[in-house]
Amino acid sequence: MMKYISTRGNAPELTFEDVLLTGLASDGGLYVPKEAPHYTLEEIESWRDLPYTELAHKIVYPFVEGCVDSDALKGMLEDVYNNTNFGHKAIAPLQQLDHNEYVLELFHGPTLAFKDFALQLLGRLLDYVVTRRQEKVVIMGATSGDTGSAAIEGTKACDNVDIFILHPYGKVSEVQRRQMTTVEGDNIYNIAIEGNFDQAQDMVKASFGDQSFLRGERKLVAVNSINWARIMAQIVYYFYSSLNLGGPLRPMAYSVPTGNFGDIFAGYMARKMGLPIEQLIIATNNNDVLHRLMSKNQYEVRPLKHTITPSMDIAVSSNFERLLFDLYDRDGAKLAGLMAKMNARDDVVSLDEDKLAKARELFDSLAVDEKTTVETMQLVFNETGYLLDPHTAIGVKAARECRRNPNIPMITLGTAHPVKFEDAVGRAGYEMPALPHHLTDLMEREERLSVLPADLETVQQLIADNTFRD
Ligand SMILES: *Cc1c(COP(=O)(O)O)cnc(C)c1O
Repeated sequence: MMKYISTRGNAPELTFEDVLLTGLASDGGLYVPKEAPHYTLEEIESWRDLPYTELAHKIVYPFVEGCVDSDALKGMLEDVYNNTNFGHKAIAPLQQLDHNEYVLELFHGPTLAFKDFALQLLGRLLDYVVTRRQEKVVIMGATSGDTGSAAIEGTKACDNVDIFILHPYGKVSEVQRRQMTTVEGDNIYNIAIEGNFDQAQDMVKASFGDQSFLRGERKLVAVNSINWARIMAQIVYYFYSSLNLGGPLRPMAYSVPTGNFGDIFAGYMARKMGLPIEQLIIATNNNDVLHRLMSKNQYEVRPLKHTITPSMDIAVSSNFERLLFDLYDRDGAKLAGLMAKMNARDDVVSLDEDKLAKARELFDSLAVDEKTTVETMQLVFNETGYLLDPHTAIGVKAARECRRNPNIPMITLGTAHPVKFEDAVGRAGYEMPALPHHLTDLMEREERLSVLPADLETVQQLIADNTFRD
């Protein structure tokens, strides 16, 4: 059975089940597998003809073994990665842009962004685990867009999970709001806060810190990208795309639109598990804390900037700690010291030169501003007739700038569908594309949400009232 350890070396080892239900480790670190499985090229090659669900079973099962039964996992994967749930039969199809240049379309899920890949599965896993334990849990989260809708869609069918998602009232796009508020399910609660995202986020943090409003009968579960189960599910499409383009017998390069470093860390894991990946490109918007670190060895947290790529608007990139853990030879004590310096934010922090050099063997980075993002959308549209979403456009730009070897296929992760990002599409001068066929009636569906003042007690009261309804 796989064990999970904290990056700061001072928290108990956990099983998958506990990692799923635990957010941060008690020492403030993030959980990672103690030992990742490793596959030979022959083994990986033998998976070439597997459909998405079967490949997913090969990759995911070793991480959950002992906690989730093999057949149960198979059932969940079939329930998630199918043509009813995903609007494309290949689940994660490749779109070619140029010779040896591709976009991996990860936006055919129910909420049109890659987060569905992980949150659809996470919902099923959570329900399976808490049902067996005869528990009920409460998911609470704040969202400025993609995560909330993906989490709601992923947990709508879970009997023993109530989900409360806070968003800033009037501050998310209409498509994004409707993707949250029109989902049917009596375990789903949308709370629109009369305030901004940070206030919503603060209320969530405060509630995790003091859960007494749940009267000890329920536990809060976090579904943000520090949850290991999300990374795990995202490893699969690196293998899938590589196998589709002749891997593992030839290496691939990936460019990943990055916010919290979750999606790209899954690529790093795939490589660690044996998949030949030559290069991973960290593509950021003007919230470029990671690009500054990678290019100048200066880690400095700056205030958040709001951009036309809101899903990458972050000030700190929490999953980067998982990479640092490996770079620092999995020395938890050393990492705890480094993280304390990095989180203190009163000074610019540098990594040891040899550690940075090690990271640079695999990773490159680029920060792309709004003007260049829009220009890249226009350029690619002129070249191919294909409209990129602005996040993916940042990935494509970084892929083209940072590419090391043109003979190696370059795959940019297509993280969202452009229809979700009206501002950027408008600025690039295009009409909004039509909603994909499974969402055509989104604008007519009935919405359900509660508008509340930005007041912690009021929000917690609503949660308590509805959580203990039975
Ligand atoms: C969440 C998100 C990202 C960033 O992914 P991370 O795992 O946080 O790096 C990029 N693009 C889109 C569209 C997203 O929703």
